[in-house]
Amino acid sequence: METFMLDRQDLPSFLAACEKHRRVHVPVEEAPDHFIFKPLAEATDQPVALHYLRTALPPKKYFFPAEEVLYRFDADGYHPQQPDLPPMILFGLHPCDLHGLDVLDHFFSRDYPDRTYHSRRQQAWLIGLGCMPDEHCFCQSQGTEHVDGLYDLFLWDLGPQFYVMVRTEAGHDMLHMARALFKPVSQANQQAYLALLKKRRQAFTLHMPVADLPQVLEVKQDCAVWDKIGETCFTCGACSMVCPTCTCYDMLDRMDLSGQCGERCRKWSSCLFRDFDRGAGDHHFRRDRGDRVKNRYYHKEHGYVNGFGKPSCTGCGRCITACPAGIDVISVFTKVRRACGGEEEVVS
Ligand code: SF4
Ligand code: SF4
Repeated sequence: METFMLDRQDLPSFLAACEKHRRVHVPVEEAPDHFIFKPLAEATDQPVALHYLRTALPPKKYFFPAEEVLYRFDADGYHPQQPDLPPMILFGLHPCDLHGLDVLDHFFSRDYPDRTYHSRRQQAWLIGLGCMPDEHCFCQSQGTEHVDGLYDLFLWDLGPQFYVMVRTEAGHDMLHMARALFKPVSQANQQAYLALLKKRRQAFTLHMPVADLPQVLEVKQDCAVWDKIGETCFTCGACSMVCPTCTCYDMLDRMDLSGQCGERCRKWSSCLFRDFDRGAGDHHFRRDRGDRVKNRYYHKEHGYVNGFGKPSCTGCGRCITACPAGIDVISVFTKVRRACGGEEEVVS
């Protein structure tokens, strides 16, 4: 992997050079403390947010949109819809969100690779951006604090300069869009980079030991804690919508009023919604709210670990800040541990 330095004042020129080749999307502060990814071209009076921590919606919105038409149908048959994302560069992804995309890549590749997801994903080049954790970040516990190989370029903010890591051919292509801006790395730069990583490691205040969680959850399948949490959960689904790894969706068929044609749509859903698992004869697999809450947390720290060797929670903290009932993932697992008679292992 090659490394370079980029002067802070040259970042806008670099992004402008990239914009000549591909549509660049960046994080901006849309309202006080409300960050979103949006096209650079539409952020004319907004600076690129370099110190944001979490966007309202994760990058999944680009590749797995909240609603999309998969195909239209009429008397001539089915007509698959082409995804509408032109070649793009997504700038400013934190390590946890890069890991979130890795989970989505995996999910949409299993069994039947998802055509629309992958055609969008292949159009995107990714530029990562280092961050400093706040009190809701627990990616360090989830093992998603750092990334190797999930980005094309990655920038660490050293103050006057960025330490730039080039991982892929696409990364080199981006570098060459403004090659003159990138300078060699000195030994002092390397030391500053390592000092930043150390400072960041020590900045985490929220820790959730997860190594034994699959076993704890295994023995506490019938824990009353889930019913208690179910009593406070509104089952609004906000936690699923903002989660970078939640992939539940619903299918809708919309007929034209003529009855001659229509379209099949895919729309975000949530396993917390009452109707999500409603079957024939009004049968519900998880009728109680507590069961649905339990299902979501089991999926993150038990089912996914057993199936694929790692949790499907990246520790981004979005669900903690989005929940109107104040339910947070750390306290949920703390309560389950306590119910298990286990020691208080969670430190915050
Ligand atoms: S955001 Fe909170 S209240 Fe809404 S479904 Fe999720 S846990 Fe329940
Ligand atoms: S469960 Fe919460 S903390 Fe974990 S990835 Fe989803 S939104 Fe982030």
